[in-house]
Formats: sequence, structure tokens, C-alpha cells
Amino acid sequence: MLHARGVLLTIDVSDRSTSTTNIEGVLSQFIGGRGAATKLAHDRIPFDADPFGPENRVYISAGPLQQTQMSFTGRMNMTGLSPLTDGLLSTNAGGYLSRNFVGSGHSVVEITGQSDELLAIHVTDEGVEFEEVSDLAQATVPEVTDAMNKRHELESENLVTIGPAGENLVRFACPMTYDSRAFGRGGLGAVLGSKNVKTVSFRGDSEPSVEIDEDVQSELHREAATTDDMMKRQGTTSGTEFINDNFSLPTRYFSEQSFEHVEAIGGDAVEEKKYKKAACSVCAFACKLPTKDEERGLVTEGPEFETVFSFGSNCGIDDVVDVMQSNELCDIYGMDTISCGNSVAAYLAAHDEFGNAERVHELVEKIAYREDEGDMLAEGVNRSHDELDVKNFTVKGMEFAAHDGRALHGQGLSYAVANRGADHMYSTMLSLEYDGKINPDGTAGKAEVLIEQENHHAIRDSGIFCAFSGDYFTEEQKEILFEADYESLLEVGSRIIELERHFNNQRGMDAEDDRIPYDLPDLEESIQEYYELRGWNDDGTVPESDVSDVATAND
Ligand code: SF4
Repeated sequence: MLHARGVLLTIDVSDRSTSTTNIEGVLSQFIGGRGAATKLAHDRIPFDADPFGPENRVYISAGPLQQTQMSFTGRMNMTGLSPLTDGLLSTNAGGYLSRNFVGSGHSVVEITGQSDELLAIHVTDEGVEFEEVSDLAQATVPEVTDAMNKRHELESENLVTIGPAGENLVRFACPMTYDSRAFGRGGLGAVLGSKNVKTVSFRGDSEPSVEIDEDVQSELHREAATTDDMMKRQGTTSGTEFINDNFSLPTRYFSEQSFEHVEAIGGDAVEEKKYKKAACSVCAFACKLPTKDEERGLVTEGPEFETVFSFGSNCGIDDVVDVMQSNELCDIYGMDTISCGNSVAAYLAAHDEFGNAERVHELVEKIAYREDEGDMLAEGVNRSHDELDVKNFTVKGMEFAAHDGRALHGQGLSYAVANRGADHMYSTMLSLEYDGKINPDGTAGKAEVLIEQENHHAIRDSGIFCAFSGDYFTEEQKEILFEADYESLLEVGSRIIELERHFNNQRGMDAEDDRIPYDLPDLEESIQEYYELRGWNDDGTVPESDVSDVATAND
């Protein structure tokens, strides 16, 4: 099976020591990316670790496809114990980091320990250097990029950086790369903050060689370059009005499921603000959205659809420039726009302030610096909803993505059981339900297809290929590229999901955590069917025998 090449680099910031480990056994069983990182995290983070303790570890990893020139592969994975969900979590970012990362010669970089001083870590193919950067305390992401550029001629595409939110342990702080691309969900930026790691740079010319089928590579590249897919003009916002028409655009903190001003914040409104094309490394699809508003002097990238929801409809905001501004604030402070937008929306619900854009922007800033009410909101909705006296719209502590499960019941089932909580990228039942491939009503009989989706997406995040390749990258091409039949690939995906679940079980998570804050038809029966088809126990736990027959992390 095709898999990533390169050693594991371990960086202990407590004593500034480094070591390398041959993980060929892990890579050959888990491909790379999320798969390899999940196996390592499962075996090396203590089950009782404090997410903000030195014992937590952050894994930055690439897959084999990052060592090729194929479109849809400008992605990177990050894995660790989440301070938001308290479980094992992987998150994924685009941009240009991936080629610089593999150029350093590693497949996975592991960061552990806790530094006394704020650090920049420089990883190259010649070694690791530590730089004390106390002068960059509370610096924004672009300020760090600027400093690294001046001092070391590093660009944003070399860097993974946290903003003030990460340093201030905002539970949904995210590491940023290329200034505007986020390892969005789950708060791993706060984990780096707890380790006193402000930025990590990667560069070098020592990418291990990975050969892939040239026909598949060029077919995908051609498709990406020539398709007239609407996403190439409007990115993920292209579906906003359609999603609204399907009553799956949560509005005013989930009190409604469609927004009367959707046209003011949807795909056309975003496209009007777009001023050039943009992509991730080697991707001809180029679906990114650099936008600007001359009047306000605002330049940003996005908003993507999820931000249109979280800071638009869910906050009752009907001006795309206001959403752009929220997006930009989250980027510079280093915060997940979905969790941050939902936390702000919860506050607006509690204080009857929907539609107040000035208040929204003020709250975002206060969250990043944990000032006043921002300190409570920085804990996320799960930990602040009681004080706000609003309903807890989270699963496993993770704030909901759009694509409302009350309209798309299979997606609702997915939100309930996903190890990562209420996130839309763990499975995309939503696509099948929007397309009418399966009826959105009811959960009965959907567990099997949900499992296939979850397993597939775990492979996608291990390969790593982009979620937006879905219409172009066929099963047959995947079999050729990964040199394995599709069922074997799904089996690898299943092992990744099981390791995540097993880790979470050891931290006390079980069926009681597979809960969503609304009723759906046959939900309990469907969750039980999901466990049964996965071969898990009735209480949502993984039998020990399922996780004991794979290579150890040191193989
Ligand atoms: S499809 Fe879009 S998000 Fe995916 S790699 Fe290409 S440019 Fe990046």
C-alpha cells in the first residue's frame, strides 16, 4: 500500500532535545497523515493526560501524496488531545506548508513537553533550532510572519503559528499556516500555546521519494484545471442559498433553520468581494477566496461557507463585509471561525443582540485576549451555556457546523457518533442527503453508509487528499494510486476510527457522549446499529482485542 516516507521527529520543548524514530511499521499500516498521527498519539499520549499539560503531544503530519505533484493535495494534518472535546482529534489545513514540511525530510513531527520561554522552532533537513521569541508574546499571526520573514527570510507558507488566542488558551484557538489557512477545529492552537510554542517553521530539499501512477496524477490535474465547477468561482460559499432552501442553515443561534437575508452573505455576495484566484500548493482547482472591501480597507481570505453560517446567519448578520471582518479577526488572532462564531451567537442569544455587528467584532477581540465576558466565551459553548442560560448546541464539547441535522437526519446521526463531535468533515452524509442519493428524513438504515463515509474520510485525511476532490477522484483511481483494493483501504480507515474511539473510551467517553441536543427519528436504534456494525460494545466502547493487533508506534 502506498504510504508516506520519512522518519518521526520528536521535539521535547522542556529540555529542547530532539530525536528521530523509524516508524516504517506505522506508516505501512496507517498510510500517513491522520492515520499515522492517530496511531502515534494513541500509543504515546497518556490516557489521563491534561490537554494543557506537558504530557500532551501535538503531531504535524503529511501523507504520501504531499510528496507528489498531484492536484487536491495541498493539505496537512495535525493531531492531539483536544482541550475542547477532551478527546483525540485530528484537524486539517490547506495552504503551502505541505511541500515545505516534506522538504524537511520527515513524515511526522511530534511536539511534547512545556517550555519556560516562548519559542520559535525551526525544522530543516539539517536539524532543529530553537529561538526564544518573548518579544513576540501576544503577537498576531501576521506579526509573527513578518518577524520571521525579517529575521530568517521565512514566508507564511513555511510557518505554523498561533496568535494571542493560542497563548491565552482559548479552547478553540487554532494553529494557522499561510496566515489565512487554519488547522481549524478542536483547539490545538491552545495546546501549542500551553507548550509555549509560538511558531514552527519547515524548510529543506530532502523530500523522500514517493512514486505514484502518472496517469491518475495527470487525469486529476486536468480535471481540476478544466472543470467549470462553481466552487472555482465561489469556493464553499457556492451552496449557501441551496442549503438555506433546504432549511439546513442554522440562524440566530439555531432558533431558525433558514435566513431571510441569505443573499446578502451567500456565494454571489462573496464573489463580488473576490479580487483574485488562489489555491493550495500544486492544486489546479484553486477554490480559495481572497476578498477585499475598499471602503473599509479590509483584505482577507474568505469567508468560507462555514463562516458565512457561524458569523452570518447564526449571529443574524446580513452584511458580507461584517462577516469578512469577523473572519479576518479570527485569522489574525488564530481562532476557529465555527466555534468562535457559535460562542458569539450564544452570547447574542442570551442578550438579545442578534444583528449587532459592532458587538460581534468586539466579542471576538475579547475572546482572543480573554477580557471581560470574552473569558467565559473562550471556554466554548459547552462550558459557558449554563452561565449564558442558552441551550447547549455542542456534541462532545464541539460547536456545530452548519448543515443542520434537524433537516439532514443522517448528518445528525453523524454528529452524534463522530469521535470529533459536531463537525461536518468527519463524514459528509450531508452531501448524500442534499444530492438526494439518500432520503434526508430519518436515521434508520443509515449506519452502514455512515461507517463507509467515516472510514473513507479517515483515508482521505491520511493520504492526504482534499475533501473537494470528491466529484473527480474515483474509487478506481484511489485503488490504483494507493495500490490497494477499496475494501482494504476502508479497513485502514476503520482502524483509525477505532483508535480514536479507544483513546476516548480510556478517558471515560462512551455512548452517553454520543448525544445531540435534539430528537431524530429512530436515533437510539441507529446508534446501536452503528456500534453493532463497527463491532463495538453496546455502550459505545471498543473491545480491547480490536486495538491490540496493530503495530506499536515504535515499530
Ligand atoms: S480544492 Fe481548494 S482547498 Fe482543496 S487543495 Fe485545491 S485549492 Fe486547496
